Amino acid sequence: MQHTRSLSQQTPSNSLKVIFSGIQPTGIPHLGNYLGALRQWVHLQNTSDDSTTLIYSLVDLHAITLRQPPAQLRQWKRESLAMLLAIGLDPKRSTIFHQSTVPAHAELMWILSCQASTGYLGRMTQWKDKTSGEKEGSEKLKLGLFSYPVLQASDVLVHGATHVPVGEDQAQHLEFAREVARGFNHVYGDGTGPLMVPETIISSAKRVMSLTDPEAKMSKSHANPKSRILLTDSEDEIRGKTNAAVTDSNAGVSYDPVQRPGVSNLIDILYHCTKGAGFADQVALAKDLDGSSLRVVKQRVSDAIEGQVRPIRERYQEIISNDQLLDDASAEGMLKATISASATLAKVKQAIGLT
Ligand code: ATP
Repeated sequence: MQHTRSLSQQTPSNSLKVIFSGIQPTGIPHLGNYLGALRQWVHLQNTSDDSTTLIYSLVDLHAITLRQPPAQLRQWKRESLAMLLAIGLDPKRSTIFHQSTVPAHAELMWILSCQASTGYLGRMTQWKDKTSGEKEGSEKLKLGLFSYPVLQASDVLVHGATHVPVGEDQAQHLEFAREVARGFNHVYGDGTGPLMVPETIISSAKRVMSLTDPEAKMSKSHANPKSRILLTDSEDEIRGKTNAAVTDSNAGVSYDPVQRPGVSNLIDILYHCTKGAGFADQVALAKDLDGSSLRVVKQRVSDAIEGQVRPIRERYQEIISNDQLLDDASAEGMLKATISASATLAKVKQAIGLT
């Protein structure tokens, strides 16, 4: 059973919260990353007080589960860090770090790998999707990709996260992390520790779909660059990609993600970029749009996306050329994350008899 609730529903306001989340530096983040996860990271930072610790990771060890050209990976790591600052994360308030600079993540992963069930891992949707078409025993099936959820569990658990804000595609992995924590606590602890069992927070924009293939989610790794709006796209690029978005030939405008995935995705994007646009839900927004041509709808969607992306794009352009700022942010994040991770790792090693 998946366990997802809103932050305010779960913990009394005076209790300590640790928010953890991550993004792979596998390209410039896109609108789906922003609406599904990153916007929520900033909101949590800007609305929580000092009793909340915020930890956000550029998960570069996850990025190498699929082969990346080394120079490209280095560039993406830098660009992704610049983007986290451009969206409004503040290194003084949030810990922002590259995963590979904190070895405790990989160390805990090995320990948890000795607990994790291969049967459970084999049922993960993302593993099946990313390896579909490969025969069992194929050279292309890599252990790192198979054990991706164990590393993800370690990322979250090593910082004692209480809440993990992610898009819907990560909910299954988070359920696995909860299961691993419960199993470890049962075998080595008193049932309630040493690992914290985290809650998953799914944003309302839980799955933004591809513009060219609206049955698939928007992703950094989709082969067609026109399938996603990047947070660095110019206004012309945003308008071009939105105008070319796949829709259908049905008359009128209606919200029906199953029958009309392309049109419904545009309505979803408009709804989330305008924070509801004054409508109770997407069905009400679609009713208001009915009677407009799809050309006009796409124009409104482009305007709404540009409204979200423009300030981010402008800040990003300033930050990406500031090497000092990026180096300082990365070094500060590594230090803070190393300290944060060491406490749980020490407890785990003690619990299993390594120390
Ligand atoms: P890749 O294509 O390299 O696998 P990705 O685009 O799927 O990358 P991740 O780095 O795996 O993105 O995910 C970062 C965060 O963005 C996660 O919380 C994930 O759930 C969220 N996310 C990714 N794609 C979408 C989407 N299309 N809609 C909503 N949230 C998304």
